[in-house]
Amino acid sequence: MLTKVIEQAKIDHFTKWFERADKIVIVSHVSPDGDAIGSSLGLYHFLDSQEKNVNVIVPNAFPDFLRWMPGSKDVLLYDRYKDFADKLIAEADIICCLDFNALKRIEDMADAVVASPARKVLIDHHLYPEDFCKITMSYPTISSTSELIFRLICRMGYFSDISKEGAECIYTGMMTDTGGFTYNSNNCEIYFIISELLSKGIDKDDIYRKVYNTYSESRLRLMGYVLSNMVVYSDCNAALISLTKEEQGRFDYIKGDSEGFVNIPLSIKNVCFSCFLREDTEKPMIKISLRSVGTFPCNQVAAEFFNGGGHLNASGGEFFGTMEEAKAVFEKALEKYKPLLIAKN
Ligand code: 5GP
Ligand code: MN
Repeated sequence: MLTKVIEQAKIDHFTKWFERADKIVIVSHVSPDGDAIGSSLGLYHFLDSQEKNVNVIVPNAFPDFLRWMPGSKDVLLYDRYKDFADKLIAEADIICCLDFNALKRIEDMADAVVASPARKVLIDHHLYPEDFCKITMSYPTISSTSELIFRLICRMGYFSDISKEGAECIYTGMMTDTGGFTYNSNNCEIYFIISELLSKGIDKDDIYRKVYNTYSESRLRLMGYVLSNMVVYSDCNAALISLTKEEQGRFDYIKGDSEGFVNIPLSIKNVCFSCFLREDTEKPMIKISLRSVGTFPCNQVAAEFFNGGGHLNASGGEFFGTMEEAKAVFEKALEKYKPLLIAKN
């Protein structure tokens, strides 16, 4: 049995909308990850089984290792089909906002979503949700939005209508947002849910291989290169890796190739804080990824130094300036947080 995480009144409210709706649009965040696509498609397969007219729209492309997911070919990319997407958003009865807490996370889509007369629901697990939806289902203690989608469908009374395809998508999101169940994954109910998803016929071992073990040769060589240039700040229990545009070009970089790199330095004994700086190929900025283990709040560093945010152990932000300047800012952050970083070990 599962704890009732989502309040009954919110389930009832959403169910009422759902029963009357025909056109439903699901939106998720920029540079969609496994949980963004997993939760969106998990909900998509369920709504589709209920004869709803459903569309998933995300701001831009998602990595190749998610393209096997059932329904992924129908995900609409806003940066390529803006006019069509705008029409769907404007005409929707319901817009489901999944896996983001602030309108800026859907970038150029935000205006269309705000302007739409559709009923809006937020289903998310990031801290501090903005108040832009009529129903806000925000549960930061839950490790993935995909898990929330499973909980929502079950609470609405439709467990039996979850298909194998839908279960595969939900499992993928739960798996990727916990690093293959290696962090944020001590809640025993996660494993009850996995058991229920297995009963739908999913092959979890195959899903793991499809997500984590189907990279290109050049991606692995890039990983070796990035690690060979890693800087370890032993006195702060921290590490830094980086990747410039020029270096990405040298290794035939494609979107998603550096996925997971930021976690690798955490496998060094005593390192509890890792930073990955990557020069963006589209915008003139450096994308920051931060990870920590234990109680070190890397989201605080993201907010304070990189205009970002996120979770306690996984956060990110943006930096407008050169790589050298970004590194200097990171080192300033280390200086400030050194006492806390040392206290952790
Ligand atoms: P990643 O390192 O995988 O890009 O991001 C990890 C987490 O950090 C995301 O799930 C999200 O919560 C948060 N995050 C990443 N980039 C940003 C950003 O630019 N702004 C904010 N507020 N949060 C971010
Ligand atoms: Mn998520």
